[in-house]
Amino acid sequence: MLPYYGRISSAAVDPIEKKPLLHFRPGGRVFSIGFTGCNLVCPFCQNWTISQDPDAPSDYLSPADAVRAARDSGCGMIAYTYSEPLVHAEYVLDCMDRARAEGLANVLVTNGHAREEPAREILDRTDAANVDLKAWDPAWYRSELGGDLDTVKGFLGLAAERTRLEVTTLVIPGRNDGDEDMRGIAGFLAGLSPDIPLHLSAYRPMYKYRLPPTPRDTLERLAAVARERLRYVYLGNVPGAEDTRCPECGAVLVRREGYRTALENLVPSGPASSACGRCGASIPIVPPEGRAGGGA
Ligand code: SF4
Repeated sequence: MLPYYGRISSAAVDPIEKKPLLHFRPGGRVFSIGFTGCNLVCPFCQNWTISQDPDAPSDYLSPADAVRAARDSGCGMIAYTYSEPLVHAEYVLDCMDRARAEGLANVLVTNGHAREEPAREILDRTDAANVDLKAWDPAWYRSELGGDLDTVKGFLGLAAERTRLEVTTLVIPGRNDGDEDMRGIAGFLAGLSPDIPLHLSAYRPMYKYRLPPTPRDTLERLAAVARERLRYVYLGNVPGAEDTRCPECGAVLVRREGYRTALENLVPSGPASSACGRCGASIPIVPPEGRAGGGA
C-alpha cells in the first residue's frame, strides 16, 4: 500500500538556482513539486510543516498530470523537492520515466537517504541532483537528525557517477561549523571529483532551533577551507549571489544578481559541457537549453 502516492503538497515554477543548482542550465526555470513527510527529523527544517506532517494539506496529482503540468509550464525541467522525494520513490520513478519520454530533464533535491538499489534506479533517471551532506560527525547525524552519514556517503558516490551532482551543507553555528568538519566534507567530495560544486548555506532560526543565524564570516572561513580541495564553492542564504569564475584564469563565467543570471565568458561546447571563453579551460556546466555548442 502506498497511501501517500501522488499526494502533492506544493507546486511552483522556480529558478534552477533556487534548488540550488548553479552548474545545470543556468538561468533556467524548473517546475517543482513537493510531497509530505521525510525520513529525517532535522530540528531546523525550513519546510517542517510538510516534512514532519505526512498528513499536511495535499492534493492528488497523477504522474501523467505532473509531467503534463511541467511541460505546459514551458520549463523543460521537473524537480522533486521541498520535502523528501525519496520516501515517495515509486511515484518519483513513475514521473521520471514519463518526464524523460516528454523530453524533460529530471532534477532531484534530496537528503540522500536511500539504499543502494532504489538509489541506482532513481539516479539513473536523474539529470541533476542537489544532495545534502549535513555534517561530518556520524553521531550528530544520527542523534540530532535521525540520519546516517555512511548512507549519504554511499548515495553521493552513486550520484557522482550517474548524474550532475551538487552538494549543500547548511552551516549551523556550534554544530557543524568547525574547520575539521569542513576538511572532512571537502576531502570526501574531492575524492569523488574536485569539480562537484559545494553550497555552504547560512542557517536561520527555524522550527525547533533558536540558535542565532550563521554569520557570513563563518561561511567565508569554511569556504576558504573547502576551496583547498574543491574548485567551485558557493555561499548560500546570504545577500548577494556568487558568480562562477574560471578556476584556471579567474574570468567570470556566469554572473548572478539574486536569481538573475547572465552568461559572460561561458561558451557552450556540447549538450552537457562548456568552456571558458577566455582561456579555453573545460568547465563542468551544462549549458542552458538551446545554447548547446557543436562539440561533443
Ligand atoms: S532532510 Fe530536509 S526535508 Fe527532511 S527534515 Fe531534514 S531539512 Fe527537512
